[in-house]
Amino acid sequence: MHIEFDNAFLRELPGDPEAGPRVRQVEGAAWSAVAPTPVAAPRLLAGSAEAAALVGLDTAAFDAPEFARVFAGNALLPGMQPWAANYGGHQFGSWAGQLGDGRAISLGEALGPGGGRWEMQLKGAGKTPYSRFADGRAVLRSSIREFLCSEAMHHLGVPTTRALSLVGTGEPVVRDMFYDGHPQAEPGAVVCRMAPTFLRFGSWQLPASRGDTALLRGLADYTLRHHFPELAGQGAAGDAEWFAQVCERTAWMVAGWMRVGFVHGVMNTDNMSILGLTIDYGPYGWVEDYDPDWTPNTTDAQGRRYRFGTQPQVAYWNLTRLAQALAPLFADVAPLEAGLARFGQAWDRAQRDMVARKLGLAQCTDQDLRLFAELQALLHEGQLDMTLFFRRLADADTAADAAVDPSRFGEAFYEPAARAAVEAPLRDWLARRLARLADDPLDAVARRERMRLANPCYVPRNWLVQEAIDRAAQGDPDGVSELLEVMRRPYEEQPGRESHARRRPEWARDRAGCSMLSCSS
Ligand code: AMP
Ligand code: MG
Repeated sequence: MHIEFDNAFLRELPGDPEAGPRVRQVEGAAWSAVAPTPVAAPRLLAGSAEAAALVGLDTAAFDAPEFARVFAGNALLPGMQPWAANYGGHQFGSWAGQLGDGRAISLGEALGPGGGRWEMQLKGAGKTPYSRFADGRAVLRSSIREFLCSEAMHHLGVPTTRALSLVGTGEPVVRDMFYDGHPQAEPGAVVCRMAPTFLRFGSWQLPASRGDTALLRGLADYTLRHHFPELAGQGAAGDAEWFAQVCERTAWMVAGWMRVGFVHGVMNTDNMSILGLTIDYGPYGWVEDYDPDWTPNTTDAQGRRYRFGTQPQVAYWNLTRLAQALAPLFADVAPLEAGLARFGQAWDRAQRDMVARKLGLAQCTDQDLRLFAELQALLHEGQLDMTLFFRRLADADTAADAAVDPSRFGEAFYEPAARAAVEAPLRDWLARRLARLADDPLDAVARRERMRLANPCYVPRNWLVQEAIDRAAQGDPDGVSELLEVMRRPYEEQPGRESHARRRPEWARDRAGCSMLSCSS
């Protein structure tokens, strides 16, 4: 197994003079050298062929015992130089100071055959200087969730970090899942995830909070050089355009979440990628019965700061925190304000693009935005399954009377009473949409195709992932690969996989892991 590494992050940015995992405040450094802590019995549970290809590996590599050892943290390949990154963040709206990679350890920056740079990072690989009071480990259930959702999001076409492998450690990890005084031993695992860089908004916030403008500058230069090369070396204009592009990418990422019904669950600024990638899959969830106020994260149940419908606003708030951190690099705030305005413009474009594609229109007018908002209110009131509804809408024959018949959405309803309440207004809405289509240039075939490519048939519904977790906990990890296989083609009906496109079964309504998740992972 050979991977080419070029560890520019370590070479170009200042490191902590002390190595090893002693917990400490680390000033003036972007990273600390620290080795993964070996585990008892590494075993590969699942791998992603597509992610492997990005770093020049084929799936034959998965079968080598060396693969499980390396991606459990028990061995290093030539060129790997493990480190933990230093960063801070706002958690649930409050500044939390230094956080850092408490259980993530990067192994190196791989140079992929396609010219890409891929930071390879183990999550759950043991203690680092940033582990604070915790153990540096990850449980199998959350590792399965991160592995599956990273790859599913990629196949859904939403910008995301990737996942190469899921390795069982053969060691227990103790967690109090709902912080209610019931700690339990659970199986442990390590995920290897990949991104061009894992730098986050919090990477800049920490040096800014300490008045360390040199490190702030260094981080920006590294990022421009390697990840926004067309903007590097252009001084203030390049910096301004960089921030604006971060704002735009973030807007498009969140629009992707809104399109497929993804709720991140913990949009703290340490979980916001500088590349506009979905990062840090924790207590995330998928909207089933449509509800803009829903959050899967029980740790956030009180304030519901990170509920589905407010994700765009939260993203904007997070960008204002990043702007504040970057302010020392700018002579005045005008370029940062201009960058933030680009978020609003990009969001408007992204939202119109989403509405047009979800409803099957060539263009989205102001009136179409209102039509969509009315539909959202109906989906909420009728407690309709978001994924099933849009998929059925895509397949509706718009030439027939049946097009305005709400019964075609029958299986998308969860509650008979809610269904009865919205049947008449839904019929009316369908009729108005049909009338709108008469003004639209797309023909029926093109419209259906456009909608089918924007409205997935399969998303990794919380309970589907939980079924894979339950099987893995019983010693059968194959459910993970089976679900990944379905998620490889989320926009295509797959014969024999109908059960993966169903609405949530009753057993999953209030079950831990399906509708209730916490930050304990
Ligand atoms: P998260 O909520 O996963 O984004 O984590 C917030 C912070 O807590 C980050 O600095 C993590 O590295 C750290 N953290 C979370 N879980 C652990 C753990 N089991 N061991 C060490 N650090 C952790
Ligand atoms: Mg995090």
